[in-house]
Amino acid sequence: MADVFDPEQRSAVMRAVKSRDTKPELKVRKAAHALGLRFRLQRADLPGKPDLVFPSRGVALFVHGCFWHGHACARGARMPATNTAYWRAKIARNAARDASASAALKAMGWRPVVIWECETRDSEALTRIIARRIRTLRPRPAFLRRRSRG
Ligand SMILES: [Zn+2]
Repeated sequence: MADVFDPEQRSAVMRAVKSRDTKPELKVRKAAHALGLRFRLQRADLPGKPDLVFPSRGVALFVHGCFWHGHACARGARMPATNTAYWRAKIARNAARDASASAALKAMGWRPVVIWECETRDSEALTRIIARRIRTLRPRPAFLRRRSRG
């Protein structure tokens, strides 16, 4: 089936869908709150602009859409039938950007954590995932952050 949109239009449509649907991020906030984890929203000054940061644990958390960031899951593997090369290239760029943001954060002493959209569907499972990935990390003194690891 042919796509009725050209890549530019499709891009605008997908962006609109994405910005309207903030559900995965809201679910992550809710689960973190339920676990008693303190966080701040969107630190624009940090590499990759993490969606949430947990200052006491030095965690920079990203909530990634499976399609946009190329998750190795069913949703991440599903490609639009048209302009497939365009989408593949776009997603590859996003993934490369994610990898360099993660490396930059690590160099600053932050611990990058990714929660995938597909992990937010079941709220109980999500709470367990967040507990495992964040609460199990020992709190880390603030002075260790913003320094390179050595
Ligand atoms: Zn996924």
